[in-house]
Amino acid sequence: MTVQEYFGCNVFNEQVMRDRLPKEVYKSLTRTINEGRALDEGVANGVANAMKDWAIDKGATHYTHWFQPMTGITAEKHDSFISPAPGGKVIMEFSGKELIKGEPDASSFPSGGLRATFEARGYTAWDPTSYAFVKDGTLYIPTAFSSYTGEVLDKKTPLLRSMEAVSKEAVRLLHLMGHTDVQTVRTTVGAEQEYFLIDKSNYDKRLDLQLAGRTLFGAKTPKGQEMEDHYFGSLKQRVADYMKELDEELWKLGILSKTKHNEGAPAQHELAPIYTSTNVATDHNQLTMDIMKKVALRHGLVCLLAEKPFAGVNGSGKHNNWSISTNTGINLLDPGKKPAENKLFLTFFAAMIEAVDEYGDMLRLSVASAGNDHRLGGGEAPPAVVSMFIDSEMEAIIDAIDKGEKYKAPSSAKYDAGVEILPTFKKDNTDRNRTSPFAFTGNKFEFRMPGASQSIAGVNVTLNVIASEVFSRYSAALEKAEDKQAELDRLIRNSIHNHRRVIFNGNGYDKAWIEEAVKRGLPNLVSTVDALPRYISDKNIKLFVDHGIYTEHEVYARYDIKAEEYYKTVNIEARTMSDMVKKDYLPAAINFLTDICDSVAAQKAAGFVPKHMEEAAKSASETTDKIYADVKALDEAISGVDKTDSYKTAKYYHDNVLPIMKSLRKNVDALELMVGREYWPVPSYSDLLFKV
Ligand code: ADP
Ligand code: MG
Repeated sequence: MTVQEYFGCNVFNEQVMRDRLPKEVYKSLTRTINEGRALDEGVANGVANAMKDWAIDKGATHYTHWFQPMTGITAEKHDSFISPAPGGKVIMEFSGKELIKGEPDASSFPSGGLRATFEARGYTAWDPTSYAFVKDGTLYIPTAFSSYTGEVLDKKTPLLRSMEAVSKEAVRLLHLMGHTDVQTVRTTVGAEQEYFLIDKSNYDKRLDLQLAGRTLFGAKTPKGQEMEDHYFGSLKQRVADYMKELDEELWKLGILSKTKHNEGAPAQHELAPIYTSTNVATDHNQLTMDIMKKVALRHGLVCLLAEKPFAGVNGSGKHNNWSISTNTGINLLDPGKKPAENKLFLTFFAAMIEAVDEYGDMLRLSVASAGNDHRLGGGEAPPAVVSMFIDSEMEAIIDAIDKGEKYKAPSSAKYDAGVEILPTFKKDNTDRNRTSPFAFTGNKFEFRMPGASQSIAGVNVTLNVIASEVFSRYSAALEKAEDKQAELDRLIRNSIHNHRRVIFNGNGYDKAWIEEAVKRGLPNLVSTVDALPRYISDKNIKLFVDHGIYTEHEVYARYDIKAEEYYKTVNIEARTMSDMVKKDYLPAAINFLTDICDSVAAQKAAGFVPKHMEEAAKSASETTDKIYADVKALDEAISGVDKTDSYKTAKYYHDNVLPIMKSLRKNVDALELMVGREYWPVPSYSDLLFKV
């Protein structure tokens, strides 16, 4: 079968709906999807029935309401279609009601105090703007999840709300600017996904990888990524086979997997899809992560999505490419041939400068997690300070606007040749450009801070809502203005003048930049714990409440869950370290010490003088003793911790537990370099990174 034939074959898409639904039902459903209307029950029954028949043809026996709880994973409960029939038989049934609404037991998901335990019920509601699909014998229905009392318990509902907010505010602004033909505006996203592949047999020997998804110990390899031979190296056969099957699986699910290549670090790779509507891109990214892991197992591999699986080796991120387009087909962030004269572009571009400067703390927070803390600012990923990269031409343009001068394009200005050649520019500037957390790349912004394992829902909620906020400020001012043209010019200039401090075109990895950024007043929220209090600042609560994304109560719940997730992650890692030290590393150290001491004693008895050997034994002994001390301190630090206040607990783990973990790791890694291979109980970094 050719790709065209099987692409989307497991998706209940437009084409299938047209083929399978009665005409009236199809029309009504399309209207629901396009206009965001409620589905009436008769139509729902028609859709459900057709969906069920189609799914059964694809081998499905079950259906599930697929949803994304606040922790960023996806959740599903599978129900079969069977219903008893006379004569001990069954028939396969699926009603409109079952399609539209599910009632999973919500009690096992964190709710940040939103859902009282006595009222465990939660509802899932079908999101008809994201297609249903069949996977592993189950019909998956993308849904949003809320509590019995209507509080939002998931990541999809706020995302859909934020998309509505952007559409509403962008359309309002566009109408004021005279573009009255525009009816809706949507944000588009393409999420580039980085990952590592390691051999399953090595993974099975390391408890840290199994329980924490990343290595908690491991001395540096003799060879790292200094030769830079991985990125452009040819794909190993095993990896190529994996990628081929991964593409096939993704294509069957209608996921537009486009680009695959090796990444900077050994064993690291990347997959990039073609961009699509934000909520679909989010669903697809969740599915992509799931399928990446499953396909890896079929090849005797394990796919690691942790942000920093290996110390001293590049971590994995997820580049969230984001833009805004109208239903009339205009990309509002497309500079066109003459950006300096493109009022539409300049308006939306300037608004984004204001948004990113004013809400940089929220953008930082949207990517905050214990895992991503190890990656950001490590000199291989953007720092924790949010800044914006624009190219030098664009900088000259905003500079002219700021000064109230007319921008004169140099005769050879790249933009004169049209936007098609923008990629040329990007290649020339790749090095600088790559270090920026938020880069303008031609006709979109590339947000590079998200971690590889994170859901992109939160990131895009934030991008959408901060954009909505500044668009609404522009509209409010324009609505009052007599001379709208002059007012718009003033608004653009104001945004640039007041917020251009967020623009930085230099090397974001440079330490000097952080000092400079702090001087400019940009927040440097190094860890999740530093960033968290910003969630509940008046400014940010107001942002979410004003645009109908969350209630104040819901903001607090999310803040609480983020803190809880943070300390739980660190706690699991600390306990895993303690376990590995006691069960794996210390026994190995003892074996090694016994042998080396026996040998030293035997040699001395024979009249030799094993001076250096004795020194080696001494230093192994001292290091082992330090490990005993650290593990004791770690056990004490994590026992009996009062966890009533999630934020305080997170801060406690950050301030008191992480430093002990760091010391313990340092000592174990030092010991690894002293001890013979056959003594060492787990695969080394060389085994993990170079033996796929
Ligand atoms: P780059 O060279 O900057 O990486 P690419 O064209 O390869 O640019 O795109 C990288 C990612 O950005 C891809 O996932 C692509 O689909 C996505 N992308 C391109 N245009 C847009 C857009 N208008 N909105 C959102 N994402 C986009
Ligand atoms: Mg990119």
